[in-house]
Amino acid sequence: MVIALQPPALTAKTAARAQGHAGAEAQRRTLRSRIYLPACSIAAVAAGLVALGWANHWGGNDFAASMTSLRVVVVGPLTLAIIGVFLIAERLRPAQRRPIFARGYRQDLLFTVFNATLVVPLVTALTLSFSDVAQRAFPWLVLPRIGTVPRWGAIAVIFVAMDACNWFAHMANHRVKMLWRFHELHHSQEDMNVLTVFRTHPFIHVSYLVALIPGIVLLANGALPITLLVIYGGVVAFAHSNTNLGFGPLGRIFVSPNYHRQHHKLDGPQDVNLGFALTIWDQLFHRAVFPTPETIRTDTGLPGRPLVVEQAGVRPHHFSVFAAQLVAPFRPMDKDLDLRSAGVRALRSPAPSARRDGVTSSI
Ligand SMILES: [Zn+2]
Ligand SMILES: [Zn+2]
Repeated sequence: MVIALQPPALTAKTAARAQGHAGAEAQRRTLRSRIYLPACSIAAVAAGLVALGWANHWGGNDFAASMTSLRVVVVGPLTLAIIGVFLIAERLRPAQRRPIFARGYRQDLLFTVFNATLVVPLVTALTLSFSDVAQRAFPWLVLPRIGTVPRWGAIAVIFVAMDACNWFAHMANHRVKMLWRFHELHHSQEDMNVLTVFRTHPFIHVSYLVALIPGIVLLANGALPITLLVIYGGVVAFAHSNTNLGFGPLGRIFVSPNYHRQHHKLDGPQDVNLGFALTIWDQLFHRAVFPTPETIRTDTGLPGRPLVVEQAGVRPHHFSVFAAQLVAPFRPMDKDLDLRSAGVRALRSPAPSARRDGVTSSI
């Protein structure tokens, strides 16, 4: 006897469930085609930290006073004086000759104003909230006062450890795609200059919160004075300047403009020279590429311009480009332009800037 096996007939319930799944999948696909969802998780962490900090009264800290201190670090008188000196150095000893009001300079000035006004409150909130959450969740993290360690010794340790944490966070920015979506804005600058240090997406600061940990651990032994933070910021800003300076033998320890420019190199690789102030982390992890006379005039930016830049087009349209640059991490990925550092070399395209007779950029 032959028994014919028949597939079970679909019940109305099963069919409805299948239709529901298909509908949900179609919705997810539509959402994915409009938004890069992983980027939303960074924004969610930022929003969560701000909400927590607000609810916990910023860990007992004075929010306004903390914000003022941070603003002093970002655009205080000493910072502005240091930046002024660097701007003069850029004119006197440029790595690349450029018009004084190059498009990239104007765009980075926009980012500077944005940082001084709207980003400072956000970073203050993130900093206070992260420190409070870390101390509440891991109270053992804070070491007691160590009598044998002088205050300056603790400050030196915090400084070096903070620089190491920034190195690791920077490496993560290049290795983790959703972080890279925020970090690529910084790398999109084709007219690198001292203000490029401010050309960052506000949410990228979430990834650098780890750099607060050394300060939390040694809280009872010392804290970084504001002046030292201003100097640190000045060193990082100077590393972005359009100056032909390599610091001589000191360039083996401190990040010089000629050294950091290799990190922004248009034809990569970009996962080298990740250091903020010290080159020792790059040397330790075999990521250091020291400058040579041939590399000083390196073109910078992202090949293929995966992110809209002010240098594209006949007119710069600074404000609309600025808005597009901030929204970009949440836009769906163009798979052909996935420029995570590992793939950068395979995706070369002609240098995007108008570069004429040694004069780069356009106005
Ligand atoms: Zn980078
Ligand atoms: Zn940089």
